[in-house]
Amino acid sequence: MPDKFAVGVDFGGTKISAGVVNLETGRLVGAAKKKTRGVQEETDVVKRIISVVDESLNAANVDMKKVVGIGVGAAGMVNRQKGILLAAVNIGANDLPLTEPLSKYYGMPSKLGNDVEVATLGELTFGAGQNCDDFVCIFVGTGIGSGIVRNGKIIRGATGTAGEIGHMILFPDGKQCGCGAFGCLEAYASRTAVAKNILVDLQRGLDSVIRDKVDMQKGILRSKAISQAILAGDELVTRAVVDCAQFMGVGLASVVNFYNPQRIILGGGLVEAVDLYVEVAQKEAKRRCLKIPSKKLEVVKAELGDYAGIIGAALLCAN
Ligand SMILES: [Zn+2]
Repeated sequence: MPDKFAVGVDFGGTKISAGVVNLETGRLVGAAKKKTRGVQEETDVVKRIISVVDESLNAANVDMKKVVGIGVGAAGMVNRQKGILLAAVNIGANDLPLTEPLSKYYGMPSKLGNDVEVATLGELTFGAGQNCDDFVCIFVGTGIGSGIVRNGKIIRGATGTAGEIGHMILFPDGKQCGCGAFGCLEAYASRTAVAKNILVDLQRGLDSVIRDKVDMQKGILRSKAISQAILAGDELVTRAVVDCAQFMGVGLASVVNFYNPQRIILGGGLVEAVDLYVEVAQKEAKRRCLKIPSKKLEVVKAELGDYAGIIGAALLCAN
């Protein structure tokens, strides 16, 4: 059978990336990216996506007859049937039709999914979820999201929002979360939470090798800087990561008890850069959850890295 390809678009709050993916092998044959920018009008967004897609197609240089569709994974809530991005806080878009203009422009089918859902689909097909029918894929970043796979299929829930694990409540009177509620997991275990803890300690005047790597005004701290500080044996940074990973472990224990997955896959920049986070979260989860559901549990790292979103979005067009 001749190779089939699809374009995958990862549409996030800070950047739009696209890539041409071989649907048989999962191999990425050409990719491009651009900053998202403050989006003003609908046509701007679509134009910007088209320019990134065009660039990736040029880089891939495959026969257009072999390209079967364009899949988009967007950071927000989506209407999959209508191909509309319903609400995306980080992108600043509401009720934005995406698949219709793309399908019209390229003369081929276009599909839309949520970013976490497509990254999970990527891991399921070509990454750490291969040969596993029941798993949960958890992505730790600015927030925490997850995809749930049961019997080899992604569970979407009644309103298509299943997997909002970041808003599992750990402390009813805890820190306020971006969602407005109090004590959510993501307020304690996300990359943002790690960075906040480090910033507070630095402001208190504690010593750390990471002091020069932080933008104290904006509170920006890169995963790579965190990983380097840990490798250098920095106590302050190590403690911040361990604290947050322990909270993640507490959240995972509930997931294990409730859902009894065979595998938990952890992904996202912080997780990929910092092994310690995964080790601590796994240990804490096993320590806290019921014995029987954790018997067969494996906690592993995601395998597709930055490309999970592109590969997964392309896979929306596989059938
Ligand atoms: Zn929340």
